[in-house]
Formats: sequence, structure tokens, C-alpha cells
Amino acid sequence: MTVEVGIVGAAGRMGQMLIQAVEQREDARVSAAAEHPKSEAVGRDAGSVAGLNPLGVKIANDAASVFKNSQVVIDFTLPEATVYNLQQAVETGTALVIGTTGFDAAGKARIEEAARKVPIVFAPNFSVGVNLMFKVAAEVAQVLEENFDIEIIEAHHRNKVDAPSGTAIGLGDAIAEAIGRSLPEVAIYGREGHTGARDRQTIGFSTIRGGDIVGDHTALFAGEGERIEITHRASSRMTFASGAVRAALWVLGKEPKLYDMRDILNFR
Ligand code: NAD
Repeated sequence: MTVEVGIVGAAGRMGQMLIQAVEQREDARVSAAAEHPKSEAVGRDAGSVAGLNPLGVKIANDAASVFKNSQVVIDFTLPEATVYNLQQAVETGTALVIGTTGFDAAGKARIEEAARKVPIVFAPNFSVGVNLMFKVAAEVAQVLEENFDIEIIEAHHRNKVDAPSGTAIGLGDAIAEAIGRSLPEVAIYGREGHTGARDRQTIGFSTIRGGDIVGDHTALFAGEGERIEITHRASSRMTFASGAVRAALWVLGKEPKLYDMRDILNFR
């Protein structure tokens, strides 16, 4: 069986990779694609936009047609676009994979609400390595207990629009959960001026933006006389794209629920 996969945000950095990742597989094909109405890619062939041979799939200016013509849709766009797509997924009963980051609490609540009606995979990072890092960092935090300061450092390309990265927050969440802390209560997202001594309960975040960095994340555990650093570096967006396509094929036919990469990798 060939699974019909729709791509929203098809001309974006991730959209192009997703088209390539779907077309690399024998069990899936790009069935429909959409872009922002103002994108120059609207009306062009999705394969050509992604640097492949033409696929015979024209990029639409509205995601609604993508949901009507696909069994599962992958969305790496912007939070406001994803919120619109949730409505389309529910109306058409289509499974959805969300890679978009930068949602506020209301946006996350909309995702949870939609996941009661259709199966949704939502992950801040679809790389297998990063998800393994979440698991390892959580275990390290449990062993080290209260005696280490926890910091998360992330670096991305100059065009990334949200900070800290969704992956950094996900990493902080996994660590906080493992040691019984609540990330919103302990997160420090910036330091400047006279900050006073560090509170050991906090989890600090540092953000670097520059050049073409695909995505680096470090969990730093600093104690007296020693420190542990766990680092993941992504060197190609294909790692996110192939993970998202794997998630799309996995979620098809599952019961309506909010899943993440840990479900797909059996890390629970
Ligand atoms: P990008 O800006 O290159 O691409 C986003 C695309 O979405 C653009 O082409 C834009 O025109 C399109 N878009 C915007 N509004 C739209 C709408 N209403 N309908 C259809 N298309 C619309 O960005 P990117 O680097 O590809 O990243 C996209 C998102 O994915 C970001 O939130 C980023 O943080 C996230 N991301 C997640 C992962 C992961 O593994 N979860 C990995 C990389 C990037």
C-alpha cells in the first residue's frame, strides 16, 4: 500500500526536505502540498520546488485541499498556520504530524483538543538521536539529584524565529519531569545585570543564533569539581524529515490521541 502524504509549508526549509523524504520511500508518496498564499511557490510543482523531478502535484494556496487529498498530513510551518490546520484535520478526519514549534499555552491547548478527535504526533524534534538524548539526560538528572546545576544550551541558524528552541524546552521538560520539578516554575530564560547567586532548583537556558547551524543542543550538569555535558548536533535537516515521515506512517490508523516521538521509538 502506498500512503498518501500531504505537506503543508512545502517550500520551507523543512517542507522541501519532507518532500524528498517521502519520495525516497517506496511505501509513501506526496499526494498534495500547500504554501502560504503569498509564497512564490504556489502553483509550482512540489517535486521541482524540492529539487526533484516533477511529481505532478501543484502547490496549493490553501491547506484545506491538502487535507481532502491525503491520508496523513505533515505540517512544519508557523503556529498560526498549524492552528488553522488543526481545524482542517478534524473536519476531514485526517491524521496529522506537527513539527512546528513556538506555540503558546493556548496553541498547545488547541492541539490537545484536536487530538481527542484525530490522531496527532507533535514533537519539538523528530530526530531519533535527540529523542534518545532526552531519555539519557533525564536518567542522568535522576542519578545526580540535587547536587548539580542544570543548564541547557542551544544553537541554531540565523533565520530561526523562536527562542529558546522547542527542542531545548522539550529537553528541559524531560529533565524537570524526571526530577519532580515543573519547568514553567524553574526555567530561567535569560540573565543580565546583578542576578544574585544561582538557585540550584532552576534550569537555565542559553540561546545562540548564527549562520547556518542546523541545530545543536547541550544539557550541562555542573557540580563541584566536575561537570557532565550531553550534546547532540544535527548536521542535516534530513534527520528531522525522515523521523517525521516515519511518524506519519506510524500514526495512520491509530486511535485519536496526542502522541510524540517517544511513542514511535517505544521509549515510554
Ligand atoms: P521555514 O520558514 O523555512 O518554512 C516554513 C514554511 O511554512 C514557509 O515556506 C512558509 O511560507 C510556510 N507557511 C507559513 N504560513 C503558512 C500557511 N498559512 N500555509 C501554508 N504554508 C505556510 O521554516 P523551517 O526551518 O522549515 O521550520 C518550520 C517550523 O518547523 C519551525 O517552527 C521550526 O522551528 C520547526 N522545526 C521543527 C523540527 C522538528 O524536528 N520538530 C525541525 C526543524 C524545524
